[in-house]
Amino acid sequence: MSADCLFCRIAAGAVPAARVYEDDHVVAVLDINPQAPVHVLLLPRRHVADLADAVGADPALVGHLASAAVRVAEAEGLSGRGYRLLTNSGADGGQAVMHLHFHLLGGRAMRWPPG
Ligand code: 5GP
Ligand code: ZN
Repeated sequence: MSADCLFCRIAAGAVPAARVYEDDHVVAVLDINPQAPVHVLLLPRRHVADLADAVGADPALVGHLASAAVRVAEAEGLSGRGYRLLTNSGADGGQAVMHLHFHLLGGRAMRWPPG
C-alpha cells in the first residue's frame, strides 16, 4: 500500500467508502461523484498505476477485475439491460487517480462517442 495513494487507502479501509464487493484481490466501492444511477469503482488491493502497469506486473489481475465487474453488474441488476465497463488511462484518457480502477456504469442508456 502507498500511504499517499487515495485508492490504496480506500482499499485498506483507511478512507471510508461504500463497499459493494470485495475479495482477496479486488475492492468495489460506489463512486463519490456518480455519473449514472449505478457507478461502481473496481480497485485492485495492490497498487498498480494503470492498465499498462497491471499488465506488466500481474496480467491475471486484469481478468480478475473483469470477473469481479461482471459479478457486481449481476448483483446490481444490470445484466439484462447492459452496462459500461471502462478504465481511463493517462492524461488523454482522463485518469485523475493514478491507481488502476475500472468504472462500472449502468442504470441508464450510455451515449457514444464519450466526451
Ligand atoms: P478517473 O478520472 O481517475 O478515471 O476516476 C476517478 C474517480 O474516482 C472519479 O469518478 C471520482 O468521482 C472518484 N473519486 C475520487 N475521490 C473519491 C473518493 O474519495 N471516494 C470515492 N468513492 N470515489 C472517489
Ligand atoms: Zn494505490
